[in-house]
Amino acid sequence: MKVIWNNQLVERSAVVIDMEDRGYQFADGIYEVIRVYNGSFFTMDKHIDRLFTGAKKIDLTLPFTKTELQKMLSDLIQINQIDTGNVYLQVTRGIAIPRNHVYPDVANVSPVFTASTTIVPRNQEKMNSGITAITLPDTRWLHCDIKSISLLGNIMAKNEAYKQGKEEAILYRDGKVTECSSSNVWMIKAGTVYTHPDGNLVLPGITKMVLLEVARKAGILVKEEAFTLEQLKSADEVFSSSTTAEAMPVIEIDGTAVGTGKPGPIVKQLQQLYLDAVEAQCGK
Ligand code: PLP
Repeated sequence: MKVIWNNQLVERSAVVIDMEDRGYQFADGIYEVIRVYNGSFFTMDKHIDRLFTGAKKIDLTLPFTKTELQKMLSDLIQINQIDTGNVYLQVTRGIAIPRNHVYPDVANVSPVFTASTTIVPRNQEKMNSGITAITLPDTRWLHCDIKSISLLGNIMAKNEAYKQGKEEAILYRDGKVTECSSSNVWMIKAGTVYTHPDGNLVLPGITKMVLLEVARKAGILVKEEAFTLEQLKSADEVFSSSTTAEAMPVIEIDGTAVGTGKPGPIVKQLQQLYLDAVEAQCGK
């Protein structure tokens, strides 16, 4: 399997990451996960746009144009023969010595770009059965809109869920549900679908964007409106969304069944609408 390292396709074993890399020292960088179905990227433009938006927010000059990045990633999945899988890519601010919190002068430091592929089939079984979750206070920072490689708050939450034998952590801040440790979260009450609006408290999920679009087109009532922990717990249906998991039913929260304890009709409809969107772009 090849990887990309500083705009070149190389063997993974050839990659050398410097101990003075600011990604390693400060988590000073951003990343993306892009899905591949049937050998084609799904919503690649949206992921690339989000990467460029995030880079601007942290004054990071990316070492490629959007077109150059598209070409490199397409070459990568082709050479690795990825049919259904993910591309993980990250860009750090680069190697700066001595270690200094202040951003280094861009004239002296080049960002470090890496990308790799993994074969990841759709988890149809889980999508049919649903997952279990716990709720936790959202202790992360206030720039959750940036897809930062600084994920300590997220992994602490996910690990707590794992320790309790559950699969996801649903986070809340000031009584309002924000998102999950690695996905956006949605609830359905009396036929209306709710999810937290974009802003600094959640990642503007690409899957969320696609689901909002297909749901509205299909005439499903959707509100980008924050809801409380109490509303979450009395919802008819709950689901999470992410690039890899798509629309994933949550059937149990803090040990109590959601609705009937089985994936409900609206999340199933959304899964199908999402699949239609995937097939329209990437083929069957
Ligand atoms: N929220 C968080 C914290 C995430 O880590 C992710 C995905 O990794 C998402 C939301 C969903 O984003 P996307 O749909 O773009 O994968």
